[in-house]
Amino acid sequence: MSVDMPVRTEAEIAQLLLGWYDRNARILPWRSPPGSPPPPPYRVWLSEIMLQQTTVAAVKPYFDLFTARWPDVEALARAPDADVMSAWAGLGYYARARNLLACARRIAEQGGDFPDEEAELRRLPGIGQYTAAAITAIAFGRRAAVMDANVERVISRLFAVAEPLPAAKPRLYALTDRITPDLRAGDFAQAMMDLGSTICTPKAPKCLICPVHLYCAANKRGDAEAFPVKAPKKPKPVRHGTIFWIERDDHVWLVRRPDKGLLGGMRALPTGPWADAPPGLADAPFAEGWEALPGGVRHIFTHFALELTLVRGRIEKSCTADMGGEWWRIDRLEEAGLPTIFAKAARQILKGAS
Ligand code: SF4
Repeated sequence: MSVDMPVRTEAEIAQLLLGWYDRNARILPWRSPPGSPPPPPYRVWLSEIMLQQTTVAAVKPYFDLFTARWPDVEALARAPDADVMSAWAGLGYYARARNLLACARRIAEQGGDFPDEEAELRRLPGIGQYTAAAITAIAFGRRAAVMDANVERVISRLFAVAEPLPAAKPRLYALTDRITPDLRAGDFAQAMMDLGSTICTPKAPKCLICPVHLYCAANKRGDAEAFPVKAPKKPKPVRHGTIFWIERDDHVWLVRRPDKGLLGGMRALPTGPWADAPPGLADAPFAEGWEALPGGVRHIFTHFALELTLVRGRIEKSCTADMGGEWWRIDRLEEAGLPTIFAKAARQILKGAS
């Protein structure tokens, strides 16, 4: 199929996808059934922020918890930072939670209504091109080209786009825009997302049961899995650090990470700065009495991999006044809302101690 396909064909693709969606839409807590009035913008916005780089299965319990605790944007705007950060713990990419609160407060200040224009939505904290388009289409039913990673894959196959990602993004976006219909834009966006996650999967796409297989250039070529073409990945740099597990009387010392930066504002086990080489005890909160623990934890962030070694120190007397933090009962550590990497380290240390 040439990318210069006639308008009628584009309309046919949209109709086939909408018909398929009417029969096969996934039932998700933030959605309305196909063809019914759209869900409230608050629920669409919250789900889209949570779904950034995160799976549907991981998001569902967090979405339920957030909407039960903070049922609308005003309620969320009034929530204390620490409560929201703790509720977000484990979902990752914590800058999203800080932006979520900043955005909720901005909307509450402006009267409590989400704007229905992409350009205005994009001025709000944490809302980029994709999220603005998704809210416009899904919550307000207005035409917008919505392209997430699933849609990117479907479009690159449908049109057999040979240019590698990420350079191909503007072209893929223009093609998404071309096949987006004027009516039912929200359902169309969700149909594309569903097709990408259930039929046009990264491996072994189910072309035989795909509603648009007759229009698909990659299917005609018989090499769907070759798309999207990706530029070779550069290996991620590795950074290193040390986790200081400090114990006293069945309690462990926790700190609050600085507001700015990775895992900002989250409760954490103390670490020094993360460096290019293992820092050992260079940034230890006190000089002596450290015991090296076996193993370590590794975590992959967007731009680097982090490897942390573990050491344990015990404090018998109160000498933590200048360390900045709090004692937390070890048997209630799961209530501290530690980010995944620190929760993993804690589990490993406690397993070794038992
Ligand atoms: Fe994807 Fe296959 Fe459908 Fe093409 S025919 S859109 S490759 S599932």
